[in-house]
Amino acid sequence: MNGESHQVLRAQLGAYVLGRLDEPECVALQAHLDFCGDCRAEVADLIPVAEALAEVDPDRVTDEPAVPPGLGEAVLGRIRAERRTVNRRSARLGIGVTLAVLAGTAIGYGAADLLRATQPPIPLESVAVRQLATRVAASANLVPHTWGTEIKLTARGFEQGAGYRVVVTDRRGADHPAGEFVGNGPGEIRCNLNSSVLRTEAIGFRVLDATGGTVLAADF
Ligand SMILES: [Zn+2]
Repeated sequence: MNGESHQVLRAQLGAYVLGRLDEPECVALQAHLDFCGDCRAEVADLIPVAEALAEVDPDRVTDEPAVPPGLGEAVLGRIRAERRTVNRRSARLGIGVTLAVLAGTAIGYGAADLLRATQPPIPLESVAVRQLATRVAASANLVPHTWGTEIKLTARGFEQGAGYRVVVTDRRGADHPAGEFVGNGPGEIRCNLNSSVLRTEAIGFRVLDATGGTVLAADF
């Protein structure tokens, strides 16, 4: 990969942790994360900041400031924490990239849009999930979009490090890909899974393990 295309991927990390990439971008970035430790570390740094943003009420923030209230403090808090624990050039560089990514994301979307992006649209449609593997505990909500259906999956008990893929079934019985994730053992995972099947055409989804066996299923 040349430096320029790596810059493009790196600039998408902020949008990635906010769940704002479309599926092809998301798939490409996830493939890159599989072998790029630098970008994985950057994602790990960005997640707490994205979570801090999710705490802020977007309706109380206008688009006037380029950077939303709370963002500066959240980032400064991280910088102070970093300085206390490590004082290496690489750590400072990491924070610099974090700031640049977040600033770019804030300018790209507008402050209030950025905050809205971190919060789930309301109302979500809750669906009943059947756990077909005894260890797995999961819940799911649907978000109907103009481009398809989003599944917000919260789960524990998927085998640590094992790959899983998700398919959405349409009214004709055809399966459509909705993304992939890696199990985190007893730790909680929260995935936003996107499929091109419109909500009115979708009748269910399944989570499949590496052998194609169904681990989790839901009928809408
Ligand atoms: Zn990278």
